[in-house]
Amino acid sequence: MIQLHPIPAFQDNYLWLLHDGAQALVVDPGDAAPVLAFLAQHQLQLQAILLTHHHADHTGGVAELRAATGAAVYAPAAETLPASVGQVQALADGDRVALLGLEFEFFSVPGHTAGHGAYLAAQAPGGPLLFCGDTLFSAGCGRLFEGTAAQMLASLDRLAALPDETRVCCAHEYTLSNLRFAQAVEPGNADVEQHLAHCSALRERGLPTLPSTLAQERRINPFLRSREPAVIRAIAQHDPQAVDEIARFAALREWKNAFR
Ligand code: ZN
Ligand code: FE
Repeated sequence: MIQLHPIPAFQDNYLWLLHDGAQALVVDPGDAAPVLAFLAQHQLQLQAILLTHHHADHTGGVAELRAATGAAVYAPAAETLPASVGQVQALADGDRVALLGLEFEFFSVPGHTAGHGAYLAAQAPGGPLLFCGDTLFSAGCGRLFEGTAAQMLASLDRLAALPDETRVCCAHEYTLSNLRFAQAVEPGNADVEQHLAHCSALRERGLPTLPSTLAQERRINPFLRSREPAVIRAIAQHDPQAVDEIARFAALREWKNAFR
């Protein structure tokens, strides 16, 4: 039986850990301590570390975890990683890796960073599993630090084409603030309203709002809905200069950057 756990770290990161009762892998361990504690508590051997991008809150724990466990590290070939990460197995778009008896496909999804990647275990029991780092958040997407709006839109389009039941494992608990923005963009979207109530209740009990599903994200995420008539109208009111789909997506991202 494969089990999935979001290990909370820092303010709002999740270090996603997958295990089969003996072997484990962890995605984007920005901090080693909570991962080592989890491994010890559940008597697990860390087999692999998967990295989506170079930011410190996703890579800061790699050196210590690797020293403690000898785990192999997989990362996008197109990312420039901090030196502390050391040698990695570099992955390009379409590469496949077998871990915990599952096959993971690597997707290149630039936008947040220049070489950002995502990992899909399409045959995972319980439905496909997607580890998407800071590219796709529930009801949101990552900021454009290194990539362009065109790249991010193309990356999100690829992820959005995955099956409905795909479990979306994002690296941050940003859902509530993202849903408030989604509400401002689409005040008439009842799914956003409903999901906000659901997620508020979860957060009040200290529970994660993740994983989400792609079916859910297609209903509530303005960044997957930038071609919906209601979203096009909202963007046009906010920025009348945005006249094509890339300019509209860029305007939506800018709107979110300034939204409080
Ligand atoms: Zn990041
Ligand atoms: Fe991050």
